[in-house]
Amino acid sequence: SEQITVADLAQRMAVKAREVTKLLMKMGEMARESDTIDQATASLVVEEMGHNPVLVSDTKVEDDLQDAVDERSSNVQTRPPVVTIMGHVDHGKTSLLDKIRETKVATGEAGGITQHIGAYHVETDRGVITFLDTPGHAAFSAMRSRGAQATDIVVLVVAADDGMMPQTEEAIDHARAAGTPLIVAINKMDKPSADPDRVLNELTTKEVVSEDWGGDTPMARISAKTGDGIDELLELIGLQAELMELEAPLDGAAQGVVIESKLEKGRGAVVSLLVKKGTLKQGDLVLAGEHYGKVRAMTDERGQRIKSAGPSIPVEILGLPETPAAGSEFLVVTDEKKAREVADFRTNREREQQLERQNKMRLENMFEQM
Ligand code: GDP
Ligand code: MG
Repeated sequence: SEQITVADLAQRMAVKAREVTKLLMKMGEMARESDTIDQATASLVVEEMGHNPVLVSDTKVEDDLQDAVDERSSNVQTRPPVVTIMGHVDHGKTSLLDKIRETKVATGEAGGITQHIGAYHVETDRGVITFLDTPGHAAFSAMRSRGAQATDIVVLVVAADDGMMPQTEEAIDHARAAGTPLIVAINKMDKPSADPDRVLNELTTKEVVSEDWGGDTPMARISAKTGDGIDELLELIGLQAELMELEAPLDGAAQGVVIESKLEKGRGAVVSLLVKKGTLKQGDLVLAGEHYGKVRAMTDERGQRIKSAGPSIPVEILGLPETPAAGSEFLVVTDEKKAREVADFRTNREREQQLERQNKMRLENMFEQM
Protein backbone atom coordinates (compact mmCIF):
# COMPACT_ATOMS: atom_id res chain seq x y z
CA SER A 1 0.00 0.00 0.00
CA GLU A 2 0.93 3.68 -0.23
CA GLN A 3 3.51 4.91 2.27
CA ILE A 4 4.68 8.37 3.19
CA THR A 5 7.36 9.59 5.59
CA VAL A 6 6.31 11.65 8.59
CA ALA A 7 8.51 14.50 7.33
CA ASP A 8 6.89 14.46 3.88
CA LEU A 9 3.43 14.40 5.39
CA ALA A 10 4.26 17.35 7.61
CA GLN A 11 5.65 19.22 4.66
CA ARG A 12 2.48 18.67 2.65
CA MET A 13 0.43 20.02 5.52
CA ALA A 14 2.88 22.88 6.05
CA VAL A 15 3.26 22.03 9.72
CA LYS A 16 6.33 21.14 11.72
CA ALA A 17 7.24 17.48 11.53
CA ARG A 18 7.43 17.54 15.30
CA GLU A 19 3.73 18.33 15.50
CA VAL A 20 3.04 15.20 13.53
CA THR A 21 5.28 12.96 15.65
CA LYS A 22 3.61 14.39 18.76
CA LEU A 23 0.16 13.66 17.39
CA LEU A 24 1.24 10.16 16.36
CA MET A 25 2.49 9.58 19.87
CA LYS A 26 -0.90 10.60 21.22
CA MET A 27 -2.41 8.12 18.78
CA GLY A 28 -0.15 5.47 20.27
CA GLU A 29 2.35 5.31 17.46
CA MET A 30 6.02 6.00 18.01
CA ALA A 31 7.47 7.29 14.78
CA ARG A 32 10.49 9.35 13.94
CA GLU A 33 10.34 11.94 11.23
CA SER A 34 12.18 9.72 8.78
CA ASP A 35 9.85 6.78 9.42
CA THR A 36 7.13 5.86 6.95
CA ILE A 37 3.50 5.49 7.91
CA ASP A 38 0.69 3.99 5.90
CA GLN A 39 -2.00 5.90 4.08
CA ALA A 40 -4.70 5.12 6.66
CA THR A 41 -2.62 6.55 9.49
CA ALA A 42 -1.65 9.51 7.34
CA SER A 43 -5.31 10.28 6.62
CA LEU A 44 -6.07 10.14 10.33
CA VAL A 45 -3.29 12.60 11.02
CA VAL A 46 -4.54 14.90 8.31
CA GLU A 47 -8.09 14.73 9.64
CA GLU A 48 -6.94 15.26 13.20
CA MET A 49 -4.97 18.33 12.19
CA GLY A 50 -7.93 19.78 10.38
CA HIS A 51 -6.40 19.97 6.96
CA ASN A 52 -7.85 18.78 3.73
CA PRO A 53 -5.65 15.98 2.47
CA VAL A 54 -3.52 17.12 -0.44
CA LEU A 55 -4.65 15.33 -3.54
CA VAL A 56 -2.18 13.03 -5.21
CA SER A 57 -2.62 14.94 -8.47
CA ASP A 58 -1.32 18.04 -6.67
CA THR A 59 1.98 16.44 -5.94
CA LYS A 60 2.29 15.03 -9.45
CA VAL A 61 3.69 18.32 -10.69
CA GLU A 62 6.47 18.09 -8.15
CA ASP A 63 7.09 14.40 -8.75
CA ASP A 64 7.45 14.91 -12.50
CA LEU A 65 9.95 17.64 -11.88
CA GLN A 66 11.94 15.43 -9.54
CA ASP A 67 11.93 12.61 -12.09
CA ALA A 68 13.33 14.95 -14.70
CA VAL A 69 16.17 15.92 -12.37
CA ASP A 70 16.91 12.31 -11.40
CA GLU A 71 17.01 11.30 -15.04
CA ARG A 72 19.77 13.76 -15.70
CA SER A 73 21.95 12.86 -12.70
CA SER A 74 24.89 10.52 -13.03
CA ASN A 75 28.42 9.78 -11.87
CA VAL A 76 27.77 9.04 -8.19
CA GLN A 77 30.72 10.04 -6.01
CA THR A 78 31.60 10.39 -2.35
CA ARG A 79 30.51 13.82 -1.13
CA PRO A 80 31.66 15.93 1.83
CA PRO A 81 29.66 15.83 5.06
CA VAL A 82 27.53 18.84 6.02
CA VAL A 83 27.84 19.69 9.70
CA THR A 84 25.68 21.82 11.98
CA ILE A 85 27.02 23.01 15.32
CA MET A 86 24.51 23.07 18.14
CA GLY A 87 24.61 23.60 21.87
CA HIS A 88 23.62 25.83 24.76
CA VAL A 89 24.05 29.59 24.48
CA ASP A 90 27.57 30.78 25.32
CA HIS A 91 29.04 27.30 25.18
CA GLY A 92 31.16 28.35 22.21
CA LYS A 93 29.37 27.55 18.93
CA THR A 94 30.35 30.79 17.22
CA SER A 95 33.89 30.64 18.62
CA LEU A 96 34.33 27.12 17.28
CA LEU A 97 33.04 28.04 13.82
CA ASP A 98 35.36 31.05 13.79
CA LYS A 99 38.36 29.07 14.95
CA ILE A 100 37.90 26.36 12.34
CA ARG A 101 37.45 28.98 9.64
CA GLU A 102 40.53 30.83 10.83
CA THR A 103 42.87 27.85 11.25
CA LYS A 104 41.82 25.75 8.29
CA VAL A 105 41.98 28.38 5.64
CA ALA A 106 45.61 29.11 4.90
CA THR A 107 46.35 32.77 5.39
CA GLY A 108 47.20 34.49 2.17
CA GLU A 109 44.99 32.09 0.28
CA ALA A 110 42.81 34.15 -1.99
CA GLY A 111 40.98 36.37 0.42
CA GLY A 112 40.33 33.90 3.21
CA ILE A 113 36.70 33.39 4.15
CA THR A 114 35.31 36.86 4.09
CA GLN A 115 31.70 36.54 3.11
CA HIS A 116 28.98 35.37 5.38
CA ILE A 117 26.93 33.13 3.15
CA GLY A 118 25.51 30.86 5.84
CA ALA A 119 28.02 28.07 5.31
CA TYR A 120 31.66 27.45 4.51
CA HIS A 121 33.83 24.50 3.61
CA VAL A 122 37.34 23.61 4.69
CA GLU A 123 39.93 21.10 3.59
CA THR A 124 41.12 18.67 6.23
CA ASP A 125 43.40 15.62 6.18
CA ARG A 126 40.24 13.55 5.81
CA GLY A 127 38.78 15.58 3.01
CA VAL A 128 36.41 18.50 2.70
CA ILE A 129 33.96 19.31 5.50
CA THR A 130 31.13 21.81 5.07
CA PHE A 131 29.84 23.73 8.08
CA LEU A 132 26.50 25.47 8.21
CA ASP A 133 27.30 28.62 10.12
CA THR A 134 23.84 29.75 10.97
CA PRO A 135 23.83 27.76 14.19
CA GLY A 136 20.83 27.78 16.37
CA HIS A 137 18.19 25.23 16.81
CA ALA A 138 15.59 27.39 15.16
CA ALA A 139 17.39 27.29 11.82
CA PHE A 140 17.85 23.54 12.09
CA SER A 141 14.17 23.05 12.88
CA ALA A 142 13.03 25.45 10.18
CA MET A 143 14.93 23.49 7.57
CA ARG A 144 13.67 20.20 8.81
CA SER A 145 10.05 21.29 9.06
CA ARG A 146 10.31 22.00 5.35
CA GLY A 147 11.61 18.51 4.83
CA ALA A 148 15.11 19.69 3.99
CA GLN A 149 17.65 17.29 5.36
CA ALA A 150 20.62 19.57 5.00
CA THR A 151 22.69 18.30 7.91
CA ASP A 152 24.56 15.00 7.97
CA ILE A 153 26.26 15.35 11.34
CA VAL A 154 25.53 17.46 14.42
CA VAL A 155 28.45 18.65 16.53
CA LEU A 156 27.15 19.28 20.02
CA VAL A 157 29.21 21.85 21.90
CA VAL A 158 29.14 21.53 25.67
CA ALA A 159 31.20 23.89 27.84
CA ALA A 160 33.33 21.86 30.25
CA ASP A 161 32.87 24.47 32.98
CA ASP A 162 29.10 24.57 32.68
CA GLY A 163 27.95 21.08 31.73
CA MET A 164 24.70 19.93 30.21
CA MET A 165 22.12 22.72 29.99
CA PRO A 166 18.53 22.91 28.68
CA GLN A 167 19.55 23.77 25.12
CA THR A 168 22.10 20.95 25.20
CA GLU A 169 19.25 18.55 25.88
CA GLU A 170 17.10 20.20 23.24
CA ALA A 171 19.88 19.79 20.67
CA ILE A 172 20.19 16.09 21.53
CA ASP A 173 16.45 15.70 21.02
CA HIS A 174 16.57 17.53 17.69
CA ALA A 175 19.44 15.42 16.38
CA ARG A 176 17.80 12.24 17.55
CA ALA A 177 14.43 13.10 16.00
CA ALA A 178 16.18 13.80 12.72
CA GLY A 179 18.19 10.60 12.94
CA THR A 180 21.37 12.66 12.60
CA PRO A 181 24.51 11.29 14.29
CA LEU A 182 26.02 13.34 17.07
CA ILE A 183 29.63 14.17 17.87
CA VAL A 184 30.24 15.90 21.20
CA ALA A 185 32.82 18.68 21.49
CA ILE A 186 33.60 19.32 25.14
CA ASN A 187 34.70 22.93 24.90
CA LYS A 188 36.56 25.43 27.11
CA MET A 189 39.06 22.81 28.18
CA ASP A 190 41.57 25.63 28.70
CA LYS A 191 39.62 26.88 31.71
CA PRO A 192 40.88 25.82 35.14
CA SER A 193 37.30 25.09 36.14
CA ALA A 194 36.83 22.64 33.24
CA ASP A 195 35.37 19.35 34.42
CA PRO A 196 34.93 17.07 31.38
CA ASP A 197 34.05 14.02 33.48
CA ARG A 198 31.07 15.87 34.86
CA VAL A 199 29.95 16.56 31.28
CA LEU A 200 30.34 12.90 30.35
CA ASN A 201 28.32 11.92 33.40
CA GLU A 202 25.52 14.35 32.71
CA LEU A 203 25.29 13.33 29.07
CA THR A 204 24.73 9.69 30.03
CA THR A 205 21.40 10.75 31.55
CA LYS A 206 20.34 11.57 27.97
CA GLU A 207 21.79 8.27 26.79
CA VAL A 208 24.65 10.02 25.07
CA VAL A 209 27.58 7.84 26.06
CA SER A 210 31.17 8.39 25.05
CA GLU A 211 33.03 5.69 23.13
CA ASP A 212 35.56 5.69 26.01
CA TRP A 213 32.74 4.67 28.31
CA GLY A 214 31.46 1.89 26.09
CA GLY A 215 28.95 4.00 24.23
CA ASP A 216 28.89 5.00 20.59
CA THR A 217 29.17 8.78 20.65
CA PRO A 218 32.51 10.17 19.50
CA MET A 219 33.75 12.97 21.74
CA ALA A 220 36.61 15.43 21.50
CA ARG A 221 37.97 17.70 24.21
CA ILE A 222 38.65 21.06 22.68
CA SER A 223 39.26 24.72 23.26
CA ALA A 224 37.73 27.03 20.72
CA LYS A 225 39.93 29.72 22.27
CA THR A 226 43.36 28.09 21.88
CA GLY A 227 42.44 25.71 19.07
CA ASP A 228 43.48 22.65 21.07
CA GLY A 229 41.66 19.48 20.06
CA ILE A 230 40.12 20.95 16.94
CA ASP A 231 42.15 18.73 14.61
CA GLU A 232 40.95 15.73 16.58
CA LEU A 233 37.36 16.95 16.27
CA LEU A 234 37.73 17.35 12.49
CA GLU A 235 39.23 13.85 12.38
CA LEU A 236 36.18 12.47 14.20
CA ILE A 237 33.87 14.24 11.74
CA GLY A 238 35.82 12.77 8.83
CA LEU A 239 35.65 9.27 10.32
CA GLN A 240 31.92 9.57 10.94
CA ALA A 241 31.41 10.75 7.36
CA GLU A 242 33.36 7.76 6.04
CA LEU A 243 31.16 5.43 8.06
CA MET A 244 28.07 7.05 6.58
CA GLU A 245 29.32 6.56 3.03
CA LEU A 246 27.81 9.84 1.90
CA GLU A 247 27.34 9.93 -1.84
CA ALA A 248 25.74 12.10 -4.48
CA PRO A 249 25.67 12.30 -8.27
CA LEU A 250 28.27 14.78 -9.40
CA ASP A 251 26.85 15.33 -12.87
CA GLY A 252 23.46 16.53 -13.98
CA ALA A 253 20.96 19.11 -12.82
CA ALA A 254 21.73 20.55 -9.41
CA GLN A 255 19.38 20.19 -6.51
CA GLY A 256 19.71 21.35 -2.91
CA VAL A 257 18.47 23.65 -0.24
CA VAL A 258 18.25 27.39 0.42
CA ILE A 259 20.40 28.25 3.44
CA GLU A 260 19.48 31.89 3.70
CA SER A 261 18.36 34.75 1.52
CA LYS A 262 18.19 38.49 1.72
CA LEU A 263 17.32 41.49 -0.41
CA GLU A 264 20.21 43.83 -1.05
CA LYS A 265 19.98 47.26 -2.55
CA GLY A 266 21.31 47.23 -6.07
CA ARG A 267 21.86 43.48 -6.12
CA GLY A 268 18.34 42.17 -5.61
CA ALA A 269 17.79 38.79 -4.01
CA VAL A 270 21.03 37.40 -2.65
CA VAL A 271 20.50 33.72 -2.01
CA SER A 272 22.79 31.18 -0.36
CA LEU A 273 22.37 27.65 -1.61
CA LEU A 274 23.82 24.36 -0.55
CA VAL A 275 24.11 21.96 -3.46
CA LYS A 276 23.11 18.43 -2.51
CA LYS A 277 23.20 16.69 -5.88
CA GLY A 278 24.59 17.46 -9.30
CA THR A 279 26.53 20.55 -10.28
CA LEU A 280 25.16 24.06 -10.23
CA LYS A 281 26.44 26.30 -13.01
CA GLN A 282 26.30 29.94 -13.84
CA GLY A 283 23.44 30.49 -16.26
CA ASP A 284 21.36 27.62 -14.88
CA LEU A 285 17.64 28.19 -14.44
CA VAL A 286 16.94 27.70 -10.75
CA LEU A 287 13.56 27.06 -9.21
CA ALA A 288 13.66 27.74 -5.46
CA GLY A 289 10.46 27.55 -3.47
CA GLU A 290 8.00 29.78 -5.30
CA HIS A 291 10.56 31.71 -7.33
CA TYR A 292 12.70 31.01 -10.36
CA GLY A 293 15.41 32.77 -12.29
CA LYS A 294 18.71 32.35 -14.11
CA VAL A 295 21.90 32.29 -12.04
CA ARG A 296 23.44 35.61 -13.03
CA ALA A 297 26.48 35.42 -10.77
CA MET A 298 27.80 32.90 -8.32
CA THR A 299 30.38 33.38 -5.56
CA ASP A 300 31.87 31.20 -2.85
CA GLU A 301 32.41 32.07 0.81
CA ARG A 302 35.65 33.79 -0.14
CA GLY A 303 33.80 36.24 -2.33
CA GLN A 304 35.39 34.65 -5.41
CA ARG A 305 33.38 34.36 -8.60
CA ILE A 306 32.91 30.70 -9.46
CA LYS A 307 31.41 29.03 -12.49
CA SER A 308 30.16 25.81 -10.90
CA ALA A 309 29.61 24.08 -7.55
CA GLY A 310 29.16 20.38 -6.80
CA PRO A 311 27.57 18.38 -3.94
CA SER A 312 27.85 19.76 -0.37
CA ILE A 313 29.34 23.02 -1.61
CA PRO A 314 27.69 26.29 -0.49
CA VAL A 315 27.39 29.21 -2.88
CA GLU A 316 25.77 32.61 -3.06
CA ILE A 317 23.83 33.40 -6.18
CA LEU A 318 22.23 36.42 -7.81
CA GLY A 319 19.40 36.14 -10.29
CA LEU A 320 16.26 35.17 -8.43
CA PRO A 321 13.53 37.82 -8.53
CA GLU A 322 12.61 37.40 -4.86
CA THR A 323 13.89 35.71 -1.72
CA PRO A 324 12.83 32.10 -1.15
CA ALA A 325 12.48 30.98 2.48
CA ALA A 326 15.42 29.36 4.21
CA GLY A 327 14.97 25.62 4.08
CA SER A 328 13.21 25.66 0.69
CA GLU A 329 14.41 23.11 -1.80
CA PHE A 330 15.88 24.36 -5.03
CA LEU A 331 16.45 22.58 -8.29
CA VAL A 332 17.66 23.34 -11.75
CA VAL A 333 15.10 23.05 -14.52
CA THR A 334 15.62 23.18 -18.25
CA ASP A 335 12.21 24.37 -19.25
CA GLU A 336 11.17 27.91 -18.31
CA LYS A 337 7.50 27.15 -18.92
CA LYS A 338 7.69 24.26 -16.47
CA ALA A 339 9.44 26.47 -13.92
CA ARG A 340 6.66 29.05 -14.15
CA GLU A 341 3.98 26.37 -13.89
CA VAL A 342 5.45 24.91 -10.71
CA ALA A 343 6.17 28.31 -9.20
CA ASP A 344 2.54 29.34 -9.79
CA PHE A 345 1.30 26.06 -8.41
CA ARG A 346 3.35 26.53 -5.26
CA THR A 347 2.26 30.13 -4.85
CA ASN A 348 -1.38 29.08 -5.01
CA ARG A 349 -0.83 26.21 -2.64
CA GLU A 350 1.00 28.45 -0.19
CA ARG A 351 -1.89 30.91 -0.34
CA GLU A 352 -4.42 28.15 0.31
CA GLN A 353 -2.43 26.77 3.18
CA GLN A 354 -2.11 30.19 4.69
CA LEU A 355 -5.88 30.64 4.50
CA GLU A 356 -6.35 27.25 6.10
CA ARG A 357 -4.00 28.13 8.91
CA GLN A 358 -5.80 31.42 9.47
CA ASN A 359 -9.16 29.68 9.58
CA LYS A 360 -7.81 27.13 12.00
CA MET A 361 -6.43 29.85 14.21
CA ARG A 362 -9.70 31.72 14.13
CA LEU A 363 -11.49 28.57 15.21
CA GLU A 364 -9.02 27.97 17.99
CA ASN A 365 -9.39 31.55 19.20
CA MET A 366 -13.16 31.19 19.18
CA PHE A 367 -12.92 28.10 21.35
CA GLU A 368 -10.53 29.81 23.73
CA GLN A 369 -12.93 32.69 24.20
CA MET A 370 -15.85 30.42 24.99
P1 GDP B 1 27.76 30.64 21.51
O1 GDP B 1 26.68 31.43 22.17
O2 GDP B 1 27.59 29.18 21.73
O3 GDP B 1 27.95 30.99 20.07
O4 GDP B 1 29.12 31.02 22.29
P2 GDP B 1 30.29 31.99 21.87
O5 GDP B 1 31.15 31.38 20.85
O6 GDP B 1 29.73 33.34 21.59
O7 GDP B 1 31.14 32.01 23.21
C1 GDP B 1 30.63 32.53 24.44
C2 GDP B 1 31.78 33.03 25.29
O8 GDP B 1 32.66 31.96 25.63
C3 GDP B 1 32.64 34.06 24.57
O9 GDP B 1 33.03 35.04 25.49
C4 GDP B 1 33.84 33.25 24.12
O10 GDP B 1 35.00 34.02 24.01
C5 GDP B 1 33.98 32.23 25.23
N1 GDP B 1 34.59 30.98 24.77
C6 GDP B 1 34.18 30.20 23.73
N2 GDP B 1 34.97 29.11 23.61
C7 GDP B 1 35.88 29.20 24.62
C8 GDP B 1 36.97 28.37 25.03
O11 GDP B 1 37.27 27.32 24.46
N3 GDP B 1 37.67 28.78 26.13
C9 GDP B 1 37.38 29.92 26.80
N4 GDP B 1 38.13 30.23 27.84
N5 GDP B 1 36.36 30.72 26.42
C10 GDP B 1 35.64 30.38 25.35
MG1 MG C 1 26.84 32.31 18.87
